Order: sequence, then structure tokens, then C-alpha cells
Amino acid sequence: MEIAAPRPKTEGLNLMKRVQVLVVGAGPVGTTAAYRLAKAGIDVMVVEALAGCPEDMRASTMHPPTLDMMAELGVLEDLEVQGLRAPVYQYRNRRSGEVIEFDMAELSDISRHPYRLQCEQFKLSRLLVRKLEALQPGSVRFLHRLVGFEQDADGITAQVETPFAIETIRADYVIGADGANSSVRKWTGTEFEGFTYPERFLTLSTAYPIEKHFDRLVSVNYVADVEEWCVLLRVPAFWRILVPTHSDVTDEELLSDAYKDSVLDRLTHNGPAVATSHRTLYRVHQRVAKSFRSGRALLAGDAAHLNNPLGGFGMNSGIHDVWNLTEKLREILKDGGDGDALLDRYDRQRRQIAHSFVQTQTIENKRMMESGNGEQRSEMEIQLESVVKDDARRRAYLLRQSMYQSLAEEAGIG
Ligand SMILES: Cc1cc2nc3c(=O)[nH]c(=O)nc-3n(C[C@H](O)[C@H](O)[C@H](O)COP(=O)(O)OP(=O)(O)OC[C@H]3O[C@@H](n4cnc5c(N)ncnc54)[C@H](O)[C@@H]3O)c2cc1C
Repeated sequence: MEIAAPRPKTEGLNLMKRVQVLVVGAGPVGTTAAYRLAKAGIDVMVVEALAGCPEDMRASTMHPPTLDMMAELGVLEDLEVQGLRAPVYQYRNRRSGEVIEFDMAELSDISRHPYRLQCEQFKLSRLLVRKLEALQPGSVRFLHRLVGFEQDADGITAQVETPFAIETIRADYVIGADGANSSVRKWTGTEFEGFTYPERFLTLSTAYPIEKHFDRLVSVNYVADVEEWCVLLRVPAFWRILVPTHSDVTDEELLSDAYKDSVLDRLTHNGPAVATSHRTLYRVHQRVAKSFRSGRALLAGDAAHLNNPLGGFGMNSGIHDVWNLTEKLREILKDGGDGDALLDRYDRQRRQIAHSFVQTQTIENKRMMESGNGEQRSEMEIQLESVVKDDARRRAYLLRQSMYQSLAEEAGIG
């Protein structure tokens, strides 16, 4: 009997799909990266493990510089019709009802979009997927999970599990925008330094008019209290309510009707009358990857850094990561730029901002929410009041919380 000669190893390579940039994850960060690269004429593929962009209730705030970026991508008009403009945000003392208000209209001399857009993150991801598919048909692959990759001097060979096969994709670069549990981060052996808070955060969404129970509530409200602070955020169809929970209560109890009723009783005095359409529990981390670059594999968004949601910086800073990164990839792939130098600079710039701004500010924002002092003014409230009364300090505060300051700092990092 004749034994077939073994197939030469290179044969399989002919069947490989080839792209310039493989993006892992079709969340807001991956889709922004892919669409911006595609618009620059770079051949991209997005692989997403799920069957579509999930309708999860996480980010809903887009800050002014992110809106500037979306305008440049040509998608802002489509987003605006799906969101709400929120120029004003408030800090409130839950017990005294005292309000400290900031108005981003004060930034209209430097910003074309001096407001937050309250718009759920899945609306952005889905819009960008549609745009990307129109520009590069077939470039978004749902039910495609990255299951491994190897890199050599010239590129990355990735294995992707599809419903019917393991496919091989060869790319010049891989962007790991695959979220908090990033496989790209794990396979590159990158440490994810930081800590996890003991309490989980509970988010509830309701169409009930919460504003009836407060004086002058706006669309973005941070309500400080030493026992149970909360965030009240408006999106077009719902109020979203975010509260911390006690670490000794089980998930089941926290997601029960009884717990929902108790949270909403404290806000509206009639919890059972308030129906919710979503209830989700989140673990909250403060972590930054030790490096955002491992050769040709780049980390961005939640894969690279995690923070508490107070201030709305997670998704926004992830989008700012890929704004920086895609510009450098364009320079490398289109203009023959120096790959090592440019990608090392990406790592330096965005990792430093993750530490100096995103981590520092979100930890501080959480401390402020917890700093209630009953009816009395807390130290934080006194500080904020003095900021709001001083023109120069108020402007600096607005520039920092709107994220313009962090982008200016990033540009100065060599
Ligand atoms: C309660 C809450 C409120 C928040 N509010 C805000 C806010 O107002 N503003 C803000 O800026 N941020 C906010 N955030 C943070 C924000 O949700 C995240 O920062 C954002 O989702 C990160 O986007 P991403 O694209 O990096 O990751 P993700 O949105 O997590 O997307 C990652 C994608 O990768 C896919 N994936 C994972 N592994 C693989 C694999 N091996 N192969 C293929 N696909 C894979 C996943 O299925 C997923 O679709 C909030 C977070 C929480 C929990």
C-alpha cells in the first residue's frame, strides 16, 4: 500500500486569510479602531466571539473630545439622533439635597461639542459595524472567537474558532480590543496590575419618571452619600440608576425584586411602583496592563485598562487609545513609518494617561461619592463649591472631567 507523502507545511498557508490589521472584539473600541483604519484605506478584519454587538447596559456617556472624533469619522449625526445632549451635570448631597452644577457650555470657545452625549455604547458599536461593512464588505465576522496566535518578525498568525472550523488569519498587526478578560492580554503574558473593589455595582434601568422626585434633576447626576451614593443618568428611553452594594449580599438577593424595591423606595418612596427593564451587577476593578504593546500585538480599551464608571471614562479612554493607535498604524502601513518607535510611543502615551488621569480621577470620583457627611457639607463638597465659584479653577475642572486635558497631556508625552 502506498503511503501518501506528508503535505508540505506551507500548503496550508495559501488558504490563510490575510489582512493588514486584525481587530479582536466588536465593542465600541474595536469597531472605532477598525472603521478608522478602513477609512484610511487599510485592510481590516474584526472577529467577535458573540453573534452580534450585545445590548448591554454599560457605557452611556460620550465626552466632548470623543464626539469630536465621531464627527471626524462622519458618524456623529447618526449617534445624536439616538442619544440625548447633556451640557450640564450635577453633584448632589443625597441627604441635604444641595446641588453643585457644572455647565460644559463654558467650553464652547474650544469645543465644537460642549456637552456629553447620553447614548448607549451598543448603539455606537452597531452603527460602526454597519459603516464598516458598507466600506469593506465581509470585514466583520461574528461568532468568530480568537483562540490563539503566534508572532514572528513579519506578522501574526491567529487561530479563530468559527461555528464550523478553526480558521487561520495572517495579519501585520493585531489589536486586542477584547475587553476585561482579554485573551490577547493573557496570551502575551501581560500582567494586569491593580485591584478589585470588594463591592459590586448594581445598575437598574427604568422608564419611570425619577425626575418627579427631585428638584431640578438634569440628565447626569452624581448623588453623594456615605451609606448609599448613587448615579442617576438619563438615556433617551430610560433612567439608569447605579448604586454600590454590600459585599456580603449574594448576587441572587441583589438582583431580586425585594432588593430593587428597597433601592427605589429610598429614591421615590414607592419602590414596587417602579418597574425595571434591566438589572445588572458588575465587579469593579482599577487595573492597567503592564504594557500596551507586545511586538505586533497591541492592547486597547478594557483589555488594557479598567476603572470604576464614575466620570464615564472607560469607553471614552478606550476610544482615545485607538484614536492614537490607528494614527500610528496608518503612518506605519501607509507611509513606511518606524513601527517599533511609533508603537512604543503608543504604549508610553496611553499607559501614562491611564495611570495619571483615568485611574487617579476615577478613584478620586469614587472617594467623593462616598464622602457624604449627613446633612452637613463634606470636605469634598466644600472643595467642589470653592472650585465652582472660581472661574479659573472651574474651567480647569471642566477641561479635566471632559477629558480634553488628558488628550493635551498625551500629546506632550514623547
Ligand atoms: C455600569 C457601567 C457603566 C459604564 N459607563 C460608562 C460610561 O458612561 N462611559 C464610559 O466611557 N465607560 C463606561 N463604562 C465602561 C465601558 O463599558 C467599557 O470601558 C467599554 O465597554 C470598553 O469597550 P471595549 O470595546 O474595550 O470592550 P467591550 O465592550 O467589553 O468589548 C469587547 C468585545 O470583545 C469580544 N471578545 C472577547 N474575547 C474575544 C475573543 N477571544 N475573540 C473574539 N471576540 C472576543 C467580546 O464579546 C466583546 O464584544 C461603564 C462600565 C460599566 C460596568
